[in-house]
Amino acid sequence: MDSSEVMICPFCREEVIYKALVCKSCGSDVVYGATNIELNNSFKTGFTTTGLALFFIVFLVPVFLNDWFDFNISAIVGVNWFTFAVGVGLSLYMASKNRRKTENYYRGQVRFFRK
Ligand SMILES: [Zn+2]
Repeated sequence: MDSSEVMICPFCREEVIYKALVCKSCGSDVVYGATNIELNNSFKTGFTTTGLALFFIVFLVPVFLNDWFDFNISAIVGVNWFTFAVGVGLSLYMASKNRRKTENYYRGQVRFFRK
């Protein structure tokens, strides 16, 4: 789509010029690609789910090792500054990956939002 193209507003059926941010007729917002809120939410979701998953793994792995192999590892043994730093690093990585996924999903899409 280039700047000379025209879209039809799904709410009022009026023409909206490509790259316009608002429909002149009904005032609905025209959004190109992902919104900042969507990007921030997918970043947060990626960070939280990865962080929680890693946190449980660090706690659960010693418990399973103890159960299956009769080890006697304290449940807190995996929790230290190193695993914390690795966990934060991995969570940030998965968070930006999730953000990129959302960005790609909405790339090239034009959506109308009623105010
Ligand atoms: Zn409209």
